[in-house]
Amino acid sequence: MSTVIEIENLTKKYRNIVALDRINLQVKEGEIYGLIGRNGAGKSSLLRILCGQSTQYLGSVKLFGTKIKENSHVRNKIGALIEYPAFYPELTGRQNLEYYRIQKGISQKESVEKVLHDMNIANLADRKFKQYSLGNKQRLGIALALLNNPEILILDEPTNGLDPVGIKEIRKFLLEINRNYNTTIIISSHILSELEHIITKVGFIDQGRMIKELSAEALKSKSKRATILKVTNHEKIFLLLKNKLQDCQVTLLDHDEIEVSGDMIDISEISRMILDANEKILSMRENVASLEDYYFNLIGSAANE
Ligand code: ATP
Repeated sequence: MSTVIEIENLTKKYRNIVALDRINLQVKEGEIYGLIGRNGAGKSSLLRILCGQSTQYLGSVKLFGTKIKENSHVRNKIGALIEYPAFYPELTGRQNLEYYRIQKGISQKESVEKVLHDMNIANLADRKFKQYSLGNKQRLGIALALLNNPEILILDEPTNGLDPVGIKEIRKFLLEINRNYNTTIIISSHILSELEHIITKVGFIDQGRMIKELSAEALKSKSKRATILKVTNHEKIFLLLKNKLQDCQVTLLDHDEIEVSGDMIDISEISRMILDANEKILSMRENVASLEDYYFNLIGSAANE
């Protein structure tokens, strides 16, 4: 997989406000990269630079190995939804897309029908834009970003203001686009849980700084379930469980507690092993480490630096 987005030491200032502070970021072809950060973290500033809307910055921004400052043609390979586009309320969805197709100089007439189909709004295409629900407006916005058949799709908080059903639908369409066309997607949100199931990589941004990047697998491990046991003879049981539970992680905690974590925890099997070893369970509790907790801790510790 080749690297399609490569950002090095990117700094962006608005007068005395540092919106981006020496950001490094790489996105590989076909990835869905989630950029997570609270309001004002710098997400839009970064995405605006990526799609060429903002050109005053320090550092290097390469798309497909080419610096965008040196060759603006690479920008033709991207589609973006940053600020919501000005759709005409009295025109239909199809007419609005047709207007932008001509304005953007996209010669393939069939591209409008294709994106209407890809975002599953072909059945609404003849309705006036002003009659669209918020979710469908958002889908039309993404359809517009897809109009030039981009290799990279850049979306700034496309799920903002949508209800859970609308968010789920957007996620579904993005996954389909990614799978069908191998489109690389970079998408921002301030809510990690909205993206955690579709992203292949996540970058946490706060106060203009990239505070952590994780692969999808590493992200998943942060939300693991763990069972914490207190037993008679914790050393013996710790060794026993560590030997027998090959698919789980077994750790000896403070206060002689034993933590068993992993996807395959079978409580009844653990209880039986302990009983068979002639020991007893004194207490047992479940610890569900939530991703949101992880995210808030991460941002909290960055803010305290
Ligand atoms: P949000 O989710 O609220 O859009 P964000 O993560 O996208 O936030 P940015 O919009 O990139 O963050 O803003 C980063 C910082 O830069 C903030 O402090 C913001 O106030 C500031 N900023 C953004 N645009 C401008 C501008 N045009 N002029 C001055 N300051 C700006």
